[in-house]
Amino acid sequence: MLELLLQGGRSVKNSRNEHTIAVSCEVSGRGYWSGKEVRVIVHPAALGTGVRLIRSDLPAIPVCEALVSRRYDASLRTNLANGEAKFQMVEHLMAALYALEIDNCICEINAEELPSLDGSSFEFAEQLGAAGLIVQAAPRKQLVIRDRYRIGTKDGWVEAVPSHAGESYFEYQLSFDDQTPIAPQAFGVELSPDRFIREVASARTFVTRAQADEIRGAGLASHVTNQDLLVIGPDGPVENEYRFRNECARHKTLDLIGDLSLAGVDLIGRFTSFRGGHNLNGQMASQLAELAAQEKHDTQSAFVKQRKAA
Ligand SMILES: [Zn+2]
Repeated sequence: MLELLLQGGRSVKNSRNEHTIAVSCEVSGRGYWSGKEVRVIVHPAALGTGVRLIRSDLPAIPVCEALVSRRYDASLRTNLANGEAKFQMVEHLMAALYALEIDNCICEINAEELPSLDGSSFEFAEQLGAAGLIVQAAPRKQLVIRDRYRIGTKDGWVEAVPSHAGESYFEYQLSFDDQTPIAPQAFGVELSPDRFIREVASARTFVTRAQADEIRGAGLASHVTNQDLLVIGPDGPVENEYRFRNECARHKTLDLIGDLSLAGVDLIGRFTSFRGGHNLNGQMASQLAELAAQEKHDTQSAFVKQRKAA
């Protein structure tokens, strides 16, 4: 009932019911930072479960909801924790789940850091897509952006503005300084499962060669080769090739989608980041989660008033 009320009177074109996957699916690999082998098994889950991550390698099998309230700051990645249920680099899995409209699932993970794969969401999206969707018996909650919200400074910001026709649009504007060998570029997408798979999922994580040298110099990610992500030097990717001319902006869009999905609702609006990273995305996700909670509260109050008046 509440879910119906939350959507009352709106004509958003992508209003839909909640989904889970039809069968379990699995993705394995090694973590970028830890180098540890890890297996992610995603299982179907009941209506209202949300996305939950469990640490199957720990005796207590602790669980953490994939919500921004569980997010903590880390450099170059998005991490979640609920007590000893700690997870690192969740954003690429989150982006695939959100874009493929999988609202309820249990992700069984046997290490702290998720697999890096090829630096993109492609394998997650491929396996989740192949698992198939089941439509569940209640509408998915939506947050419709009605005002303009901006977080950050003039040098880097994330913005949410109302959409024109009920679309959910994500854009990234990339502009590094002249010393960086990555040209200014932008990418935007009106999100659908199809467009995510074709235009976003396979865009890979990137670092400049200077950053790669620094990370390797610190003894981190020593198993990671130039083929496991994009290492970008003055002449382009080192021992690698771009999949898209603007692959970097596409990957940043992927990160934006994954990070904002932690608001825990379908987002109807236009979301743009200018030079933002996980930290600003996380702040925006908190703001969106607050708005969604506020909206729920307002709707409940209106409902109670209506009932009293009747
Ligand atoms: Zn990323």
